[in-house]
Amino acid sequence: MKRITRRHLLQSAGAVAAGAVAGCATTSETTSAAPMPFVVAGTTIPVVGTTERFPVRRIYCIGRNYAAHAREMGSDPTREPPFFFQKPTDAVQVVMPGTVGDHPYPPLTKNYHYEVELVAALKAGGRNVTTAQALDLVYGYAVGLDMTRRDLQRAMGDEKKPWEIGKSFDRSAPIGPLHRVADIGHFEQGRITLAVNGAVKQNANLNQMIWSVAEQISKLSEAFELRPGDIIYSGTPENVGPVVRGDVMTAHIDKLPDLVVKVV
Ligand code: MN
Repeated sequence: MKRITRRHLLQSAGAVAAGAVAGCATTSETTSAAPMPFVVAGTTIPVVGTTERFPVRRIYCIGRNYAAHAREMGSDPTREPPFFFQKPTDAVQVVMPGTVGDHPYPPLTKNYHYEVELVAALKAGGRNVTTAQALDLVYGYAVGLDMTRRDLQRAMGDEKKPWEIGKSFDRSAPIGPLHRVADIGHFEQGRITLAVNGAVKQNANLNQMIWSVAEQISKLSEAFELRPGDIIYSGTPENVGPVVRGDVMTAHIDKLPDLVVKVV
């Protein structure tokens, strides 16, 4: 009786509803009602065909997921298990179809690279998700760029230090709007290309991924508890390369509108 009363009171305040939607544990860190000295904006991505926006919790990226790209990065694609890194959530730069997003050339690098990637966005999470269950977690897909300060990534790798500064910087994750699975289905194959100033640089097929999206979700969930709002950059094919200020990158995946970004 006491519990029902308390639940009723919480529902009246909207607290239970908010917790249920987010699917998250309620802790003092995440639900504090204390006044805050300033507001930190959440990161959201527009969803095509709806006025809703997808709230981003974490950005995971898989490394070396196409054999030819693994080779160009100096590793053996036949022996390497999947590995992941993260970008900060606010690295997202949303660019809408039909527009050209201004993308600032970042500091410290002299070798700034594009990596076109399919991005899967999760509406549900879990631990130790099987590959058979994995695609049920996917809310939708987008085309994204895993922008990389290659010189810094390589230098840190050479010194056996974290990739962080090469991968996880401001605006390093340009992305188009999400398309819901209900509208567009899943992506087991299809062209994935990246052009710079109209010249095609990367040109591959999604079916050349070493680890499929379902396998990526399954493997990730062994290491991390996945949650709604997590998005996964699924790796880039071969022929990554540099851009300079003034270059216009056009990222394309069949079935999705192009993502167009100008380096400024
Ligand atoms: Mn990448």
